[in-house]
Amino acid sequence: MQNFNYHSHTYRCGHADLDMKDEEYVEEYIKMGFKKMAFTDHCPEKNEIDKRNDMRMKYEQRKEYLEKIQELKEKYAGQIEIQSGYEVEYLPGEEENLKELKAETDKIVLGQHFVYDDNHNLKIHGKYDFSDKELIRYAEYIEQAMKCGIPDIIAHPDIYMLKRKEFGEIEEKVAHLICKAAEKYKVPLEINLNNIFGKTYYENRKLNHKPIDEQRKNLEKVVYPCKKFWEIASEYDINVLYGIDAHHRGQILLFKELVELANEIIGKETIEKLNFVDLR
Ligand SMILES: [Zn+2]
Ligand SMILES: [Zn+2]
Repeated sequence: MQNFNYHSHTYRCGHADLDMKDEEYVEEYIKMGFKKMAFTDHCPEKNEIDKRNDMRMKYEQRKEYLEKIQELKEKYAGQIEIQSGYEVEYLPGEEENLKELKAETDKIVLGQHFVYDDNHNLKIHGKYDFSDKELIRYAEYIEQAMKCGIPDIIAHPDIYMLKRKEFGEIEEKVAHLICKAAEKYKVPLEINLNNIFGKTYYENRKLNHKPIDEQRKNLEKVVYPCKKFWEIASEYDINVLYGIDAHHRGQILLFKELVELANEIIGKETIEKLNFVDLR
């Protein structure tokens, strides 16, 4: 079982548990026997492009965030290795700012939540329907980010399935573009566990501890991981890993159950073909 996780948020982004201290995340990882973790909260933007509230920390919060991680790193040395990081989106023109964020941290997770449309407005997954052209652009941005050497991990590569009705020709094409680029640039893809969590143990934004058989009934509502995407991914020479994408108290403690559900969605045959990375 994977004993590390590089996708954790903090209260600073505004949509994680606001009363959960950074240290509580660390303590949950230790409780689970994890050897390594990274805080990869939603990055601040030097140029404020994403205007939504409660999505990311402010640029001025960077220093305090990184100092706090450093403090925890020292406090928990010998128990768990703690890294700093950000979850970022690639946008053309923002390369230098992203490289600055990379330079001050250990891990960059690319969570490509949006692309520019033809009018230079942000097209956000889950909020708007994407045209085929914008869907391809999503894959191109991910490739471009890798080409620039920005991400260490591609988070939820299959997030583009939000608001898509089926996995047709264009969805397939996007999957191939992403996987091909991941193979070329040797960047691992993440099987994200947060959408499963949100539809099962965290249904209606409240933690429940119903048995896993009850949780299973909600799996049809889960958009990602997307079975078809991972079937395609399994045909490529790429690395994969699970990402908890922790935002809430108790989420990390459900890691085993969430992995079990993810594997059920993806299917045993595909899971066995995928190349899971070790601690690195
Ligand atoms: Zn988030
Ligand atoms: Zn994300």
